Amino acid sequence: MPAPSTIPARATPADWTNWRWQMQNRIHSAEALADWIHPTPDERAAIEKTDDIFRWNVTPYYAHLMDADDPSCPIRRQVVPTMDELGPDIVNGMDPLDETGHSPVKNLIHNYEDRVAFCITAECAVYCRYCLRKRMVGDASFFMRTDEHQAALDYIAAHDEIRDVLLTGGDPLTFNEDNLEWLLSRLRAIDHVELIRFGTRMPVKLPYRITDALCDLLARHHPIWVNTHFNHPKELTDDAAAAIDRLKSAGVPVGNQTVLLRGINDDVETMKALNEGLVRMRVRPYYLYQAQLIGGTAHLRTPIETGMHILRELRGRTSGFAIPDYVLDTPHGKVPLNRSYVKGRAGDRVLMESYDGTLWAEPNPLPDAYEPPLRLPAVELPDEADTLPMERGVPDAIASAVGDASTSVPD
Ligand code: SF4
Repeated sequence: MPAPSTIPARATPADWTNWRWQMQNRIHSAEALADWIHPTPDERAAIEKTDDIFRWNVTPYYAHLMDADDPSCPIRRQVVPTMDELGPDIVNGMDPLDETGHSPVKNLIHNYEDRVAFCITAECAVYCRYCLRKRMVGDASFFMRTDEHQAALDYIAAHDEIRDVLLTGGDPLTFNEDNLEWLLSRLRAIDHVELIRFGTRMPVKLPYRITDALCDLLARHHPIWVNTHFNHPKELTDDAAAAIDRLKSAGVPVGNQTVLLRGINDDVETMKALNEGLVRMRVRPYYLYQAQLIGGTAHLRTPIETGMHILRELRGRTSGFAIPDYVLDTPHGKVPLNRSYVKGRAGDRVLMESYDGTLWAEPNPLPDAYEPPLRLPAVELPDEADTLPMERGVPDAIASAVGDASTSVPD
């Protein structure tokens, strides 16, 4: 918990550590944010202009981690909009993995045969600007009614090949204990469901959500695993460590997935400090994700060579289990971004092979005047390689939301 002098006057220490108080007092205007930091004119304009594109909310807890005067603060850059979100991009879509096409019922993604991702809610405590599910999180049409949850449970029950269910969203821990008990007891009644996993940023954005009552509930439904999502050492607070400790004491294994983000964590020192700090908290670094091709996130993406360089520099310089796997999610499954799978660079695309042998060419242009810290071999792009179309322009969804007449131009 922060020093009492930094807690806003209207909050008692008991309020501050109450997750419901934090949710009810989330910041969603530039004026409210100004209680914590000095928003720049660019941030103020972006908060207003991105309103119809992607919801914006910040917990007071996460806001108190921000540097008040530095707009390049890694906490600010993850969650405070900037006008870069409205700039040109190389993609014109919001669903690069075609999760919609892999959803047999609402919010249930069945991509791999033996497991599903069940987006039980579209609510999050804080909305990360690079979010993979930007198309749905915070959008009322993706919230689920009880009959829609039941339809997803019926689908899982009818498919005995599903042994692993990832509860995700949005953030599944925005659900209260009664709703979670309803869901977990029904999943546990399905014999072929062996493993239930949660994907949650609550230990990062709102660690007070990890209550004793929640941990008791999870412990009643083991095996339960949690994967959380720390991106920067500044997020490794005492409160976060205490939340992780409560989960571990309830017998819940905790892993972490990080997204590689330009100007936030795309250097060796930051990544080493983050992963060593996670290990000290008894959290296993699991994945480092290449940021996805979501329209309006170009300013946060890195060349794939940057991530491969970081992983190469970590090897031998820290404990092996402090080194995550660097991966890219593609419509053909996750691809480890190492030289066993990455074939080389074909101009603006990086060619790789997925686990089933499919060739995927990820659009990943090198910025002008950028000198990659390692060089991939130059390769030809085979005709059979699958890819996403590259376009240069303001994505349609963004242009229409802000009333911009500019359109995307095929590359
Ligand atoms: S917490 Fe997860 S689902 Fe929610 S906005 Fe952040 S990345 Fe997206």
